[in-house]
Amino acid sequence: MRHHIDDILVKYTKYFKTNKKKWKLGNIVKPIPISVFICLRTNSFPIPHSISQKMPITHMDLDSFFVSVECLENNRLKGKPLLIGGSGDRAVVASCSYEARSFGVHAAMPMQLARKLCPDAIILRGDMDKYTRYSELVTSVIHEQAPVYEKASIDEFYLDLKGMDRFFGCYQWATELKQRIRNETGLAISFGLSENKTVSKVATGEIKPNGQLQVEKGREKIFLAPLHVRKIPMVGEKNAFLLKSMGIEKIMTLQEMPVELMENLMGQTGVSIWKKANGIDHTPVVPYSEKKSISSEETFEKDTIDINKLNSILMSMTEQLGFQLRSSQKLCACVAVKIRYSDFDTHSMQAKIPYTSSDHILMARVKELFKKLYNRRLLVRLIGVRLSHLVQGNYQIDLFEDTNSMINLYQAIDRMKQRFGADKIQRAIGLDKYKQ
Ligand SMILES: [Mg+2]
Repeated sequence: MRHHIDDILVKYTKYFKTNKKKWKLGNIVKPIPISVFICLRTNSFPIPHSISQKMPITHMDLDSFFVSVECLENNRLKGKPLLIGGSGDRAVVASCSYEARSFGVHAAMPMQLARKLCPDAIILRGDMDKYTRYSELVTSVIHEQAPVYEKASIDEFYLDLKGMDRFFGCYQWATELKQRIRNETGLAISFGLSENKTVSKVATGEIKPNGQLQVEKGREKIFLAPLHVRKIPMVGEKNAFLLKSMGIEKIMTLQEMPVELMENLMGQTGVSIWKKANGIDHTPVVPYSEKKSISSEETFEKDTIDINKLNSILMSMTEQLGFQLRSSQKLCACVAVKIRYSDFDTHSMQAKIPYTSSDHILMARVKELFKKLYNRRLLVRLIGVRLSHLVQGNYQIDLFEDTNSMINLYQAIDRMKQRFGADKIQRAIGLDKYKQ
């Protein structure tokens, strides 16, 4: 690996020498003058109508969502260092307030360490049910106003504003929506507005909390240049480490690199990162639909009345679907069970649930629904499970009560499924302690 990187470093240096640029690997890239770091904030000066045209995509993100909801319901928590997560010694932080962040605490940190860093912090057990309700409230405000929107996660949205500027400037429109969300839900939301999803998302991140930022068309590269590579949405710890080992820390350095070099280094991921660093992103806003779902059903060769068998099949289906959710980093907020009797009489029943992708929560709900649904005591021809209201999200956030060992268990199961096939590893029904 080291040898490979050295190779690339040589190529990298050569490239800049031949281009007569005074670059040397390892040199700290000088920050570009602030005068070219053009970002427009209406707080300081108004945006002329003509500039705000053709700004079709806005990214909106609720500020420290879980914490804001808690503060909304309990005024006394405002301005205090708050940690949300399990209370056990091995629990992890699901979310924390800006006051706690100033002590170095961040999400996904073991709770024990967070408590050491910030001993005065108030620790709250999360309530996914409550957060789901607020998330849906915000979604309904956006749904009323926006022509096309994508719910990217429980607290994040992309809005395609194409055509909006015929009536209003997009910036003005987004500002009004931000205010409306504040008025109707009590929650602060920040937004970034630009020509594409990546730049808008980065802009939101830069202007949080309770901010709004527009990056003009043609200014995307200049806006991104001085930022750290970690600010690019798809650059995680691993990629950032690899880039750092090449001396690349600022997005500006990525912008100056030939795309082929990034391809050599990281394959297609490298090309994608390079494009994003250069403010290029053609990903469309995918309209949010509550109908978006994943499902599984089975028609029996021979109709059955064996309850244990039916239950066990449903559990196995749910487990496979839960794995699918986690593999694609999604959460669902609705689960449905379908049953067809031997006389073709078909029934289904669904239940709204707090956002989750945890097997033990899903399985418990499916079991409950099936119990209610299967009331004819007839032979069954087909059964099925469907998970809907899908959004992007990390599944660990709903394991408030759970410990690292629970998260480790899920990760271990999923790794084995990825390696050996999803149908090769299954829970024994006897793991009742993990069911609600
Ligand atoms: Mg957020």
